[in-house]
This record gives sequence, structure tokens and C-alpha cells, in this order.
Amino acid sequence: MISQIAIDTLRKAEIGARGLFIDGAQSEAASGASLPVISPIDGRAFASIADGNEADIDRAVRSARKAFEKGSWSRAAPAFRKKVLTRLAELIEKHVDELAVLGVRDNGTEIGMAYKAEPLSAAGTIRYYAEAIDKIYGEIAPTAENVLGLIHNEPLGVVGVIVPWNFPLMIGAWKIAPALAAGNCVVVKPPEIASLTLLRLAELAAEAGLPAGVLNVVTGRGAVAGEALGLHMDVDAIAFTGSGPVGRRLLDYSARSNLKRVFLELGGKSPNIVFADAPDLKQAAVVSANGIFRNSGQVCVAGSRLLVQSSVYDRFMEELLSATARLKVGDPLDLASDVGAVSSAEQLGKNLGFVARAREEGARLVTGGERILTETGGSYMAPTIFENVTQDMQLAREEVFGPVLGVMRFETEEEAVRLANSTVYGLASAVWTSNLSTAHRMVRAINAGVVHVNTYGGADITVPLGGVKQSGFGRDKSLHALEKYLELKTAWIAL
Ligand code: NAD
Repeated sequence: MISQIAIDTLRKAEIGARGLFIDGAQSEAASGASLPVISPIDGRAFASIADGNEADIDRAVRSARKAFEKGSWSRAAPAFRKKVLTRLAELIEKHVDELAVLGVRDNGTEIGMAYKAEPLSAAGTIRYYAEAIDKIYGEIAPTAENVLGLIHNEPLGVVGVIVPWNFPLMIGAWKIAPALAAGNCVVVKPPEIASLTLLRLAELAAEAGLPAGVLNVVTGRGAVAGEALGLHMDVDAIAFTGSGPVGRRLLDYSARSNLKRVFLELGGKSPNIVFADAPDLKQAAVVSANGIFRNSGQVCVAGSRLLVQSSVYDRFMEELLSATARLKVGDPLDLASDVGAVSSAEQLGKNLGFVARAREEGARLVTGGERILTETGGSYMAPTIFENVTQDMQLAREEVFGPVLGVMRFETEEEAVRLANSTVYGLASAVWTSNLSTAHRMVRAINAGVVHVNTYGGADITVPLGGVKQSGFGRDKSLHALEKYLELKTAWIAL
């Protein structure tokens, strides 16, 4: 783990003006324009990024296509790709402190979480796909004797990657690593408010020996650079994580351009269900508080709807409130903080809008509900809990993506299932019970990409992540993710 001394040195590092990364080199945006990078820690600008536009996206896609056709990556032996990507993972580990602090200055995640979830997790992901790629075989079809049916796995070509600001490096790596391992060339459009770590990743990739043009990063606004990538006629697929409305736009861009594939990992409103026979109510309360409040609730799988069985409701709420009160919100670069800053002043404003509406609609505020630490100039919010939430309220239906928890009671298993599935989303969920049969029944009954049992979060790269319903489709992580970046080709050979 990083030391406070290292953090305090790195937090003062000059970042300056960061350019685009295209064809193996940094450059300015075609327009010469840039965007300030404002830290949610203190509300101050500490760097700038290039404000890329359609011309920059076009240049990056051309560079990626040229690299793809040249074949020094796309047709290289998988063992070569493995070597370069392994070197990249090692370089990330070598620069782990620098990347962790840089990312926290950008998006405000508490350093304890960011350190593991961002650079270390990205390195692990890259190593995982590096190691996997020379173990993927093609197939021979069970045909008649006079023919040979071979099924090849081929890279798609140019893959666009668009990611959100909550964990840009980790989520970026979930897409970039399998795409590159499979032999594709990539153009990344980072989130405008947290681009710095992905730019640094591209530099480290070049240092690791990735050929020029194989990984390009175009910073800029979603509605400009993101849209241009979505509409580009020479992009074969877009791997996206972000909000539902932008996911819909990407499907529309695909329909209006070249029918590129679109893989969507969208939001959630995940139910966390505590049965009266939970093995340890206190432990369940601590994990549930972390499951919604860490990273200020800016976690796609956050357990934002808590369903508690009536007979243990009061006892559980007492434990939950005391676990929440123990969470220290503060400077995300202080190792003593459990929860850092909300990623931007704009996001904080949205969160407070949800609080106001929940009050108007009759939910009862139990704790929090306000901006705190205003003297810092940063964006901090107290962990917030509402009870008496009903299914018709905005807080039960819409994703906040902030530290706001809505609590409901239930009596029976059937009611818990009905409440859990009464949402347009289906990303994550959890069940707390000592009864194995209840646990298995709930795993089958809940409509979500993951059902945690007696825990919340904490999965690793070996298992897929993604949703059903309006939480999207396609899966990140695990060997299954590779399928998105590989095309099947049949050779039908008369013998
Ligand atoms: P967002 O959809 O606003 O932005 C995501 C990315 O899309 C950013 O890079 C942005 O620049 C880009 N973008 C914005 N407008 C665009 C456009 N018109 N065309 C193309 N690209 C555009 O989301 P956000 O606010 O950055 O992130 C929060 C959302 O992400 C939440 O809904 C959250 O649940 C979701 N999320 C999902 C997962 C998951 O794995 N399912 C993980 C993290 C976050």
C-alpha cells in the first residue's frame, strides 16, 4: 500500500497541459482548444486536457486502421501480444503510486479504494488477458469426411472504447485489455472529467512496446468526441460503460452509420436484501454501508435499494446507522478517509436534487442529505439514508450514482423478489441469509447480472460483470469478454 508521505509528494506534481495520444505520440487537438481539469478535492483546476473533436477522432481512427492493416499487432503471434501486454502490466505496477494519486486528484475516489481498484486492478486485468490469449484455440467442425470445416477467431478491427469517470482505468482496462489481446486496434474516449490516467496508460503502453497506432486516446467532450467515435464509419465496435441515455445514443449512432456492434454496460438500482436469518446482522450492516457509500456511491453495482425483513428492521437499522456514522468522509488523499469526494460539483448538485425530491415525495431522511466540508472548496456529501421509501418514488426507481440509500421493509420472500425485480435495471444484487435453499432460490429469482450472497461487491477478474434489462448487454471481465472482440470465420474446405 502507498504511504502518506508518497501521497503528499505526488499530490503536488505538476501535470500541465495534456495532449491527445494518437499514432504513438502526443499532439494538440485540431482546434487547439483545451478543457480545464478541476479537482473535486478542492474545486481548483490543476491541469488541462485537449478538447478533441471530430477531426481528431478521424485521425485516431485512421491511425488505428492503418496499424490494424499493417498487421504488426493484429497478425502478430499471440505470444508476442502476451509479452507486450505483460510488460505493460509490469509498468503500471512500477508506476502504481503515481497513477493512483493522479486518478484521485482527477475524480476524488478515496485513495485506499482507488489504489486497488484503479492501477492495481488494471494491471491485473491486462495480465489476465495477456496470459489468456495464447490459450484460445480455433475449432474443427464435426463434418462429413470429404470436407474440413475450420472455425477461426479473428480480431474485429478498430474498437472504440468510451468509459465513465468513476473508475476510468479499471473499466477502461476491462475493455482495452481483451480488445488488444485479441489483436484489435483501439481508440479510447475517456470521460471528460477524469482523463489523465488513461492518457498515462497509453504512454506506458508505448513504452512497453505496443506499436504506434494500436492504442490511441482522444480526450474531449462526450457530445463531440464521443459522438464522432460512435458515428465513425470505420469503427467496427464500441465498448461503452456509462449512463442509459448515452447508451441509447450509441445504438442510434450505430444505426445511422455502419451498424457497428455496440456493447453497453449501463446503470443500476441494485437491491440489497437482508433476511431475518442473515448470519451476522452487524457484519451485514457494515458491508451494506460500504456497498453504497464507498467512492461516494459512484459505483455502478452500488447496493442503492436496501430491503430489510420487518422482524429485524429496527435492529438492522441501528447497526447500519452506526456503521455509516463511523465512515469518515474527507480528503481522498488522506489515508484516514473512508469516503472521498463526489467527482464534480455538477454531480453533487444532482445528488442533492435527488435528496430534495425524496423529501418532497415523503421519504424520511434518517441521516445525511447535505453537502459537507464546504470550506475545502471541494465536493463532499454526507452519506445519506432515507427510509419509508416506496416503489413509486424517484429514489426507488432512478439511479442516483451518489451516496444516497433508500430503505424499504418486506415481510415475505415473495415480496422481496417482487420489490427486487420492480426496476428497469438488472445489474447487481445481494441476499443475506443463513438458509442455503433461500439463497439458491433468490439467486434464480432475482433478475440481475450478479447476485451476491452474504457479501456485497468484491468480485475479481475471473467472473463476468454486466447487466440485464436496461443495465445493458455484453459482459466485461472473464474469458467471456474476449468473445466480444473476436469474430468467427469459417473455412469450408473440400478434401
Ligand atoms: P455518461 O454516460 O454521462 O458518460 C460516459 C461516457 O460517455 C463519458 O466518457 C462521456 O464523455 C461519454 N459521452 C457522453 N455523451 C456522449 C455522447 N453523446 N456520445 C458518445 N459518448 C458520450 O456517464 P457518467 O456520468 O460518466 O457515468 C455514470 C454512469 O455510468 C452511471 O449511470 C453508472 O451506472 C454507469 N456505470 C456503469 C458501469 C457498469 O459496469 N455497468 C460502471 C460504471 C458506471
